[in-house]
Amino acid sequence: MHRPFALLLLTLALVAAPQAQNRPAWLDPHRDNADKLMKAAMADQFAWNRLAEITDTFGQRLSGSDNLARAITWAVDAMKRDGLDNVRTERVMVPKWVRGQESLEMIEPPLHVLPMLGLGGSVATPPGGIEAEVIVVANGDDLVKRSKDVRGKIVLFNVPYTNYGETVAYRANGARIAAQHGAVASLVRAVGPIGLRTPHTGGMNYGEEPVTKIPTAAITAEDANRIQRLANRGVRVRLRLRMEAHFEPDVESFNVVGEIRGSERPDEIVLVGGHFDSWDPGTGASDDAVGCVVTWEAARLMKQLNIRPRRTVRVVLFTNEENGLRGGNGYRDAHATEAANHVFALESDSGVFAPARLGFSGPDAARTIVAEIATLLAPLGLPEIVSGGGGADIGPIGLLGRVPMMAFQGDATRYFTIHHTPADTVDRIDPQDVSRAAAAIAAMVYVVADMPQALPK
Ligand SMILES: [Zn+2]
Repeated sequence: MHRPFALLLLTLALVAAPQAQNRPAWLDPHRDNADKLMKAAMADQFAWNRLAEITDTFGQRLSGSDNLARAITWAVDAMKRDGLDNVRTERVMVPKWVRGQESLEMIEPPLHVLPMLGLGGSVATPPGGIEAEVIVVANGDDLVKRSKDVRGKIVLFNVPYTNYGETVAYRANGARIAAQHGAVASLVRAVGPIGLRTPHTGGMNYGEEPVTKIPTAAITAEDANRIQRLANRGVRVRLRLRMEAHFEPDVESFNVVGEIRGSERPDEIVLVGGHFDSWDPGTGASDDAVGCVVTWEAARLMKQLNIRPRRTVRVVLFTNEENGLRGGNGYRDAHATEAANHVFALESDSGVFAPARLGFSGPDAARTIVAEIATLLAPLGLPEIVSGGGGADIGPIGLLGRVPMMAFQGDATRYFTIHHTPADTVDRIDPQDVSRAAAAIAAMVYVVADMPQALPK
C-alpha cells in the first residue's frame, strides 16, 4: 500500500476508535494519551531513522567489540538528548569471542567453496585446518545408531528447520554430542526456514561435562542438501575446515538505562527493552537494534508529548544477550532488592515484521487487563493478546520479581529468515512496521504504568 494513504487510513481509524464496540470504561482516562502516543509514533519515520543510524554507524555489535562499546556511548548521549530521566550505564563483564578468519571447502569431489559461519563459542581448528570425510546424520538418534562410523569424521547435522526452538538444539549442542562419538568437527545445517545459500551463526556450548572441544560451524541449507545427495549416491565427500575462533579475556560492558520517572509511584517500575549487542555477520538490525529502538520510543514519545504516567517507565538496552546473557543476569543482580517493585516487563526481541502480535505470560487477572488495554491497539491491527510473554533479557528479573511479562512478536518466518545472517540489515525492515511496534508498545506501557491499580501478580 502507498505509505501516505496507509497513514491516512490509520489516522481515520484512530479518530474512529471511540465508536469501537469493546470499550472498557476504566480505560477512558487513558484513551487520549494512548491515542496521542500512537499518532506520534505513526506520524513519521523517526524510529526507523534511528535504527538506520545505529546500524549504519556502528555496524555489528558483538559482545566485547569496539563497535558495541561505541554504540553504547552513543546511546547514552542520545537518551540524554531525548530528555529521559536518570540516564546511566550499569556495568557488567561480558565474554569476548572472536571469530577470526574462517573457511570451508569441499576437496572431494573437486573444489567447491562453501559459505559458512563459525558458531559463537566454537574453538579454532589447528592452523592448517581439518581435512576429513563427512558423515551426514538426520538427527541425534541417527548419530547414536551410526556411532562406530563417526570417529575421525566431520559430522553434518542435516536437520530441516521446523521451528527455531526445536531446530536450534543442534546448533547449540551438536558439537558436544558429535565429539562424544569421536568426530573431529561438526557442521549444522543453518537454522532458518528459507535457504538463499545463507548460513546463520548463533551460540553453541560444549556443556558442563569434560568433552573434547571440536570446532563447529553452520553451512547453508543448499550445501547441506548437496552433501546429503552425494552421500546418498555413495560418493565420498571430504571437507577442509579452517577456523581461528577463540575467546579473549572478559571485557567491561554496560546496560544502558533511561527512565520517565513516575509522577505518583516512582518506585514502581514498568520495564521495557531489547538487547543492544548482536552477532557479527550482519548489522543486527532486526536482532535486536529494532527491539531497542521501538521500546526506547515509548519513553522518548512520553517525554516529547509531556506525558508522565504514575509509575516509572524504565528503558534498558541490555548488553550481551547473544552469547552470555550477562546483561539480563547483571540487571537482575543489580536490581534484586527492587525486583518485587517491577509491575510489568516488556521485551522486543523477535523483530517487528508484520503480521506481529503481543504475547503475554502472567496470571489470568493480569491477562484480562492487558487484553482490555489491547483494544486500544485495534487501529494498529494488533488487537489480540496471544500467549508467550517475556524475553531472554527481562526473564531473570521477571522470575525473581514474579513479574507479568509481554513480548512484541514479529512474524517468525520473516524474522528467522535473516536471523544471525549477513542479511540482517535495516534494508529488510519496513518503516511502517517499526512505527507500528513503537506505537503499540508506547500505548500498552503507558496504560500499565498509569492505571490506578498495579497489574496483578
Ligand atoms: Zn535477539
